[in-house]
Amino acid sequence: MATLTVEDDRRQVVIMGAGPAGLTAAYELMKHEIPITVVERDIGYVGGLARTVEHKGYRFDIGGHRFFSKNQEVEDLWTEILGAEMLTRDRLSRIYYRGRFFAYPLKAFNALWNLGLIEATRCMASYSRARLFPIRNPRSFEDWVRNQFGWRLYSIFFKTYTEKVWGIPTTELSADWAAQRIKSLDMWLLVKSMLLPHSKPTHRDDIVTTLIDSFRYPRLGPGQMWERVAEICKEKGQPVMFGQAVEKIKHDRGRVRSVTTRSTSGEVTEHAGTDFLSSIPMRQLIARLQPPPPDAVQKAANSLSYRDFISVALMIDRADVFPDNWIYIHDPSVRVGRIQNFKNWSPAMVPDQAKTCLGLEYFCFEGDGMWTSDDATLIKLATSELAQLGICTQDQVFDGVVVRQPKAYPVYDDSYQAHVDVVRDYLRTQLTNLHLIGRNGMHKYNNQDHSMMTALLVAKNIATGSSYDPWNVNAEAVYHEDVHVGEKDATGRQVPQRLAG
Ligand SMILES: Cc1cc2nc3c(=O)[nH]c(=O)nc-3n(C[C@H](O)[C@H](O)[C@H](O)COP(=O)(O)OP(=O)(O)OC[C@H]3O[C@@H](n4cnc5c(N)ncnc54)[C@H](O)[C@@H]3O)c2cc1C
Repeated sequence: MATLTVEDDRRQVVIMGAGPAGLTAAYELMKHEIPITVVERDIGYVGGLARTVEHKGYRFDIGGHRFFSKNQEVEDLWTEILGAEMLTRDRLSRIYYRGRFFAYPLKAFNALWNLGLIEATRCMASYSRARLFPIRNPRSFEDWVRNQFGWRLYSIFFKTYTEKVWGIPTTELSADWAAQRIKSLDMWLLVKSMLLPHSKPTHRDDIVTTLIDSFRYPRLGPGQMWERVAEICKEKGQPVMFGQAVEKIKHDRGRVRSVTTRSTSGEVTEHAGTDFLSSIPMRQLIARLQPPPPDAVQKAANSLSYRDFISVALMIDRADVFPDNWIYIHDPSVRVGRIQNFKNWSPAMVPDQAKTCLGLEYFCFEGDGMWTSDDATLIKLATSELAQLGICTQDQVFDGVVVRQPKAYPVYDDSYQAHVDVVRDYLRTQLTNLHLIGRNGMHKYNNQDHSMMTALLVAKNIATGSSYDPWNVNAEAVYHEDVHVGEKDATGRQVPQRLAG
C-alpha cells in the first residue's frame, strides 16, 4: 500500500469527488496556494453529474445542464474559467402529448387549443365538476391537482410525468408539494379570452415567444467547464487522481487522518491530510468511516434514498428533428420521460451539422428491470419509442450509447431531513475537519450553482479562517447568515414528499 503523508505543519486538503463541488473547492484552494489532493472514482471523466460524455465526436450531458444562477459570484466564476467559450442560448422546452406540443410552463389557452374541441370541452366539464365538488381536505398530490384542474387535465399533464420522474404513485405524494410547486392555470383569463376573441394570442409565435428565456452553456457542454478546471489543477502540479474510489476514511481523536482509495487495478493508496472535503454520497461516506460511527448515525445514513437515471443517446441521420432544447414526454404509452436535443444546446455538440443527437431520459431505481437491461435492449427500446412518438423513423437512428447514472436525485421523503440532521450533527461535533459539500454530499436536490457555492464557502473557511456555514446556502445559491443548525432545510427546493402511513 502506498502512503502519501503530510509534512508536519503543512496544510493538505483531501477532496473526495471531482464533480462541480470538488473542483470548485480545488480551484479556490489553489488560488490560496493550499496543497490539494483530489480523488475521483471515474477513470477519465470529471464533472460528476455535470460531465459531458463523448462518443465518436458526439457530446452529451447527463440531462441537459443550464448554467443559470442568481448568485453573481458563481456566474463570474463560470466566466473566469471559460471566458468566451460560454455561450448564451435561447431556451425552448415544451410538453409532447399525443403528437402535439404544449407550452411549458402550461398556458391554459394553448393547452385547450391543442387538445382540440372535444377533449377541451371534456376538460372544461371535468374542471367545473372539480371546482363545484372538490375533494375535501386534499391529502395527496392527486387530490390537490384534481381539485385545481379537474381529473382530465390532471391525468394528461401531471400524473404520468410526475410518476415517471419519482417512481412513486401520485396518490402517495403529498398535497403540500403540489401546492408549492404547481401554479394555477388562470382559467378566468382563459374564459375571458374565449368570450373576447381579440384577447387570444393571435399567432403561435406569440405563444412560443413567452416560453423562451435564455441561459448560458459551455460551447462543448457542461463537462468542458470541469475539464478546464482539471487542466488547471494539472498545470499547477496537482492533477486529479482518476480511478481512485474512496474505500476508507480513517479517524481518531475527533479528526479524520486519511482517506484510503482503491484504484481500478486494485492498488490501495492512503492519502493523509489536515482537512477533508466530501462530495461523495452521504450514505457512502458514513459507511466508509473507520472506526464506524454510532449505530444511530449509520441507520440515519442508510435510510437516505436516491432516484437513478439512464440516458440513451441516439444519433439520427437528420439535420433537424425538433427545435426545442428538450421536451417533456407525457404520453403514458412510452417509458421515456424527457428528450434532449443536444445540438440545440450548442451546435458544437455534434461533429456533423447534417446529423442530430437526442438523449432519451429514463428515470429508474438502481437494480430494477430498466437499470439491469443490457445496452442493446435499451437502445432498441429508445429507438422504437422515438418512432412510436413520431419523432423520427427507426432507420434514421444509426448509433446509440447508454449512460447509467446512479444517485442522480437525492430523494426527499418524509423523514430525510431528520436523517440528514443526525449525520450532520455527528460530523459537526465529532469530526471537525471533515466537511460536506455539494448535492449528494449534503443530500440536497440542487443545481450546480448551489453545489459550487457550498464548496466555495468551505474552501474560503479553510483558506482564510472565515466561518461560513455551507448549510445556509439556499436553492438559489444565496448564502443566508441567519439560518442556524437544526432548523428546517433552508434550500426551499420543492421536491415530493411521500405521505406517511
Ligand atoms: C438529470 C439532471 C439534470 C440536471 N440539470 C441541471 C441544470 O440544468 N443546471 C444545473 O446547474 N444543475 C443541474 N443538475 C444538477 C447538477 O448536476 C449537480 O448539482 C452537480 O453536478 C452536483 O455537483 P457535485 O460535485 O456536488 O456532485 P456530483 O456531480 O455528483 O460529483 C460527485 C463526484 O464524486 C465522485 N465519487 C462518488 N463516489 C466516489 C467515491 N467513492 N470515491 C471517489 N469519488 C467518488 C463521482 O464520480 C463524481 O465525479 C442536474 C442534475 C441531473 C441529475
